[in-house]
Amino acid sequence: MPDGPDELAGLERRREELYQELGQVGDFRRGSLNEVRRKCGKPGCACAAPGHPGHGPQYNLTRSEGGRTRARHLRPGPELDKARREVAEWERFRDLVGQVTEVNEAICDARPVVPPAAGDEGPSGTGGEKGGS
Ligand SMILES: [Zn+2]
Repeated sequence: MPDGPDELAGLERRREELYQELGQVGDFRRGSLNEVRRKCGKPGCACAAPGHPGHGPQYNLTRSEGGRTRARHLRPGPELDKARREVAEWERFRDLVGQVTEVNEAICDARPVVPPAAGDEGPSGTGGEKGGS
């Protein structure tokens, strides 16, 4: 991997792409979807047979909040589909944040230390405004 301004420029491009992608993440919520099957316990019900997976599936949206896990039951259909999308976007968001973090750290490593310049840069900072005393 080559050092120098090319590497830095490439990293900055990558970071720019990631920020754009972050801006396109849709509604998201923390949590995960669990598929639950259960046995009703009634003798003679089909679910009592050995090897029967149980009734369902039911879908729960679980999320840990302050150390406790909270679950919400979701109806199959539009409600479940919506939650599925929202959780998927959360995964995407987390993934992008991880990538952005890595790129930023690489940029920090690649960015050279610049000695304090004698004000030959930028239209805004002429340097005479702060600490006037
Ligand atoms: Zn049953």
